[in-house]
Amino acid sequence: MKLPKKKSSVLLIFTIFLLFLISCGGSYNIYTINSISNDAMVINKLGTIRGSLQRVAKLELSGEKSDEIINKIDLTLSEFKTEKIRMFDKKNDVMDAIKSVDSSWLKVKTSIYSFRKESSEENRLQLLKDSEDAWYKTNSMVFISQISAENKVSKFKLSSIAFFLNIILSIIIIFLIKRYVKDALEEMVNNDGLTGIYNRRFFSEFLHNEIVRSERYKKTFSLIMLDIDFFKSINDNYGHDIGDKILQELVGVVNKSIRKSDLFARVGGEEFAVIATETTLENAILLAEKIRLNVEENVFSKDLKITISLGISQYSDKDDTNIIFKRADNALYKAKGNGRNRSEVELDIEI
Ligand code: GH3
Ligand code: MG
Ligand code: MG
Repeated sequence: MKLPKKKSSVLLIFTIFLLFLISCGGSYNIYTINSISNDAMVINKLGTIRGSLQRVAKLELSGEKSDEIINKIDLTLSEFKTEKIRMFDKKNDVMDAIKSVDSSWLKVKTSIYSFRKESSEENRLQLLKDSEDAWYKTNSMVFISQISAENKVSKFKLSSIAFFLNIILSIIIIFLIKRYVKDALEEMVNNDGLTGIYNRRFFSEFLHNEIVRSERYKKTFSLIMLDIDFFKSINDNYGHDIGDKILQELVGVVNKSIRKSDLFARVGGEEFAVIATETTLENAILLAEKIRLNVEENVFSKDLKITISLGISQYSDKDDTNIIFKRADNALYKAKGNGRNRSEVELDIEI
């Protein structure tokens, strides 16, 4: 098992993307809520202007002065113009409509002053016409603002759904991060930092479990120990970094030679072990030779050729981890003694 290194970058990119989505969605929602409450205020103010226009015309036509209401309309319209009441939809028809209401209101005021000077039938009709015109324009503006607010409410519903989806995505990503951290911790505990394959701790645990399993189900397995020949001279001649690279390349070659069900671990500096599950001694010898030949034929960094020696032992009843390990190690020692680049078997228990 090897943990893909790319996974952490994918998770990071995904998290940043999600945070970006959440902040965009959050900002959009805040903007929309502000905009809707602002629209409500605009509708309210326009409604006041609309009502005041009717009252002004009514009072003036009946001969009463309505300066207080006129000032109130002036003040409200100036609030729109000086953006004390902020229009969120500056680009659409609303700003044009404001200007149009303002010019109609100017006409109403002119008609009021003309009517005050001379209350002729002509001026009366002019005042009625102008105030009605201003009323319709204000009314259509209320209508525009209402439609704008309604559109925003439906957009807000959509963004709320998006926000809900973001929460679901966040839960998924928290779950993925949790799993990633668990896998990363497991890898740190069970795997070798240089080559990525299992370390000695995991190897011992696996060997123990394999013995228990073989005892219980009357099965067998074999253990192969392997060690690079004259590795020290590679470090001495080419440096430790090249030595490290060769260890990594060797792991690649061995991994290609074994089955997925076999366990491959680094048990020492340049010593490795293969637990070949459900494998008899005869088949373990064939496997060891296959590994040895693949290593011998491979061209390593700096065009180097290396060889390995291997020691093989098969599980037998009453073996414990130390006994079977010792047997394989003895076989390896024998392979070294018999000239290296070979595999040997150890049948008897020699401690
Ligand atoms: P033999 O054929 O008898 O096995 O000879 P050898 O030189 O391979 O054996 P020896 O035990 O004398 O040397 C093993 C060397 O492996 C010594 C050590 O510097 C080297 N080594 C152990 N771990 C590492 C490692 O992680 N990286 C590198 N580059 N070298 C290592
Ligand atoms: Mg060696
Ligand atoms: Mg060694």
